[in-house]
Amino acid sequence: MDHVLNIADSSIFTPYVYPASWSEEGALRQIVSLWLVTNLGAVLLFLGCGALNFYYVFDHKLMMHPLFLKNQVKQEIELSIISIFWMSFPTVAIFFWEVQGNSKLFDNISESSLGWPGVFLSIAGFLFFTDMCIYWIHRFLHHKSTYKHLHKQHHIFKIPTPFASHAFHPLDGFLQSLPYHIYPFIFPLHKAVYLSLFVFVNIWTITIHDGDYRIPGPLICLINGAAHHVDHHLFFNYNYGQYFTLWDRIGGSYRHPSALMGKGPHDHIRKLMAEAAHTQ
Ligand SMILES: [Zn+2]
Ligand SMILES: [Zn+2]
Repeated sequence: MDHVLNIADSSIFTPYVYPASWSEEGALRQIVSLWLVTNLGAVLLFLGCGALNFYYVFDHKLMMHPLFLKNQVKQEIELSIISIFWMSFPTVAIFFWEVQGNSKLFDNISESSLGWPGVFLSIAGFLFFTDMCIYWIHRFLHHKSTYKHLHKQHHIFKIPTPFASHAFHPLDGFLQSLPYHIYPFIFPLHKAVYLSLFVFVNIWTITIHDGDYRIPGPLICLINGAAHHVDHHLFFNYNYGQYFTLWDRIGGSYRHPSALMGKGPHDHIRKLMAEAAHTQ
């Protein structure tokens, strides 16, 4: 985040926002700046990518499903914005710790002992590590001792839209984002790669809620897509994964997507419309 902070400082904060007497290195100024940048970045990413996905990818026929709630999109957006706001406090504490130089993030490829292959290895490592951690955190959030207090808020949306992607209880959202923050404190990672992966995971979260259930054939068994995740919203105890189906297979919670077997939300709507046309 130090690069983001430097860009924000040089282009906006130093010339237009803060008094000249407030040093860029001041801890309080850095925390306030990180908080502003985190909130603004997260909201713009969520609303921007969410809206593009909602208008160009999400099939609006899904809103005719009987389990689609009244004012659902409004509820999803409201819960997401509230969650982003509260999540930003512990998130900024971690970002500040990182900006202070306590992580294993590095600037130049030459600093990686494995060079470019090490960068690609770190991307694979990041995806594997975060997918594994989120799987187990997500399972913990479904445990009866925690479910109704935290994770239930995300599951009120049975037929999610892209805007459900960030609609969590703030503590639930933060716990599920924790693996992304922990990774660069354990493993070396290039700063630009980290930032790109952070944007990627936000977009991925949107796409698994976007109701586009198509997946290229050979990837159905490997990738946890929107078809898998809508079954998680509908049937709860299946497909907890984030990107891959690996940990669901290991943990015995894999369910082949209903939408790919002619029993998904679209099929249900088609059946209802056919019945309605028949009775007219
Ligand atoms: Zn869940
Ligand atoms: Zn979801």
